[in-house]
Parts: sequence; C-alpha cells; structure tokens
Amino acid sequence: MFGSGVTLFRIFGFEIRLDLSFLLIAVLVGASLASGYFPSVHEGLPASTYWILGFFAVVGIFASIVLHELGHSLVARRFGIEMRGITLHMFGGAAELEDEPTSPTAELLVAAAGPATSFALAGLLELGALATAGLSSSELPIEMLLRYLASLNLVLGIFNLLPAFPLDGGRILRAGLWLKNGDHDRATRLAARIGAGLGMGLAALGVLQILAGRLGDGLWTILIGFFIRSAAIASGLDLAARRMLGDATVARFMTPDPVTVPVGMSLADFVEEVVYRTRHDTYPVIDGAGRPRGLVAVGALSEVPREAWPSTSVMEVAEPISSGGTVAPELSARAALDTMRRSGRSRLLVVDVDGRLVGLLTLKDLLETLTLKMRIEGEEV
Ligand SMILES: [Zn+2]
Repeated sequence: MFGSGVTLFRIFGFEIRLDLSFLLIAVLVGASLASGYFPSVHEGLPASTYWILGFFAVVGIFASIVLHELGHSLVARRFGIEMRGITLHMFGGAAELEDEPTSPTAELLVAAAGPATSFALAGLLELGALATAGLSSSELPIEMLLRYLASLNLVLGIFNLLPAFPLDGGRILRAGLWLKNGDHDRATRLAARIGAGLGMGLAALGVLQILAGRLGDGLWTILIGFFIRSAAIASGLDLAARRMLGDATVARFMTPDPVTVPVGMSLADFVEEVVYRTRHDTYPVIDGAGRPRGLVAVGALSEVPREAWPSTSVMEVAEPISSGGTVAPELSARAALDTMRRSGRSRLLVVDVDGRLVGLLTLKDLLETLTLKMRIEGEEV
C-alpha cells in the first residue's frame, strides 16, 4: 500500500525509503513539539532552543522507527527471510518481507523483535535522561529530548502490540493461532478480522473523544482506526488472492493479442482507426518486430492541440516501456501481482523470449477473475 517513496540510504543491506506522507507529518510534529509540547514541559527557554529541540526530536523519531524496523529485519534475516527494504510513512514504518515467515515461531520472533527494540531503546533513553538530569542547566534541553524520545519509543512499542493484523501485535496473535490450530490461512483470516474490528473500535473511540471536546486527538484516533481497518482488510484479501492464484501463470489471466498501435501512427489516425473502434483506455505501441516501445493512454490526447494530431506520432505522447513493466507469460501470477505492487503499476505487458508482445495483464483482469472464482467456488474472504 505504500509502494512508492524516495530511497534515502542503505544500512546492513536494507534500503531505507521515505514516503512523502512521512515528511508532511514530520514537519507538523516538529512544529507542534517546538511550539506546544517542549514549552509546556519547561517554559522560559529561548524560542530557538524549542525549535532546535523540535528538529532533533523529529530526527529521533525517524531513527526510532528505523531501529524498530531494523529489529524486525535482522531477526527475519536470521530465519532466512530477506527484506526488500524499510519504508517510512505517516503512521510509522513498514519492513517489507520478501516472503512470509514459514513457521509460527519465526513469525512470532520476527514480529516481537520490533516492539522489543523499541522497549529497549525507551529504557536506554530514559537512563540517558536520568544521567543528564540535574547536571547543569545547559544540559536541560538534552534531558528534555531524551525523555521525550524515551516515551515516544514506549508508545511506539505499545501501539505496535495492538492485536490488529498487520501490526506486530496482530502478527503475534496470528502466530499464536497458527501454533494452536496449525492452519496458517485460517489464523490469518481470524487475525485480519480481529484487526478490522479493532480498527472500527478505535474509530468509534475517536468519535467519543471528539464528543468529549478533544477534536485533534479524536480525528487522529479515527484516522489510525481506519488505517488499521483498511490494512487488515487488505491483508486478508491479499492472502485470499494468493491462495486462489495458486500456481497459475500470467498466461492464464492476460488478455492475449491486445489491440496495438504501430510506432509511426499519427494521433489523428490513432483516434479514428483505433480508439473509436476498440474503445480501450490504453494501448501498447509496438515496433516493426512486434516489440513494445511504449504505452499510449487516451487521456494523453487532450494535452496535444487537435490541429497537431495529424503531424504528431503516438510515440511522442506514449509513456516509454521501462524494464520493470514487462513480464513473461510463464511467470507465476503471484509474482506478477508482487511486481505490480512494488512498481505501483496496474498493467504489465507480457512479452515472449524474443521480446515480442503477446498479451496485456491488468490488475483489473486479475481481480475480476479472482472475484468470479470466489463466487463460483463459494469462498469467503
Ligand atoms: Zn513493528
């Protein structure tokens, strides 16, 4: 769900990415700490000190989340599960596992490692705050910062222990259910349902907070409640999709021989001869050898003045094909779904070994086929 983001750096071979929503929240949090929280902890310091504290607090939040996710990642690596990377977004972070843990014990330890790291950090920071306390007045801002970060890590650990899949607590819950009844899929479904319910519960709590006059807290609780709910539902659906996709290949789900456009075609011909006759919203552009060169979206036409259509080729408005945008027909549909999620694309071009276009795979096709399959087989998600 947070596939995009800017790569910042690598640590222990893990890629640390930043979703833009994190930056937005970081600025808001930094400003509210500098103008509200820190002055309320200790008034009378120069305004610049509060802003410096706000800045370092945000850096500390960032480091705390990265360390929490690194805790997961390092333990996962010990169990042979590789991580694609760590993405920071507005609700914290997410370590993206390459595979799901293969045993309940692995799942349990990987999930517990994050909160354990946060609690250990909270303890260390609190000790640091105690050590600086009362040394001299110039140490006061450092003590304030350490104490704030200690409580932040405590909250981070506790929040992540909420039994709402896919939060850590939900994963621990799933590992427990899995251990108990030996059925991984059933455990996931149950944990996802509990997570969705808990998300709704949080949202309801948020409404109560608003009624009690705490508008800001209430809105935030509602937002987190809906985030947990949608994440839980998405993981339940994801599991169902994976189970139903089974070992099927891309070839089974793709639209074979899609309508294509030759590279040299003008926009005028494209509209008259292709778009009005076939009425799709996107078309692959192919060269003389049948290899895809780009994807032209009907929407791109509106950016070119009508009088230029006869002299503009489709390739000029097409989006070029990048390396991640093509898949082989023999690839498993699960892997194709992962590619879509990682790249944020909803359609992939299917090419044979010679690079010739043989089909088009869209997320819509995949989901529609799955929905049909579920209705036919009476599956519940
Ligand atoms: Zn975690």
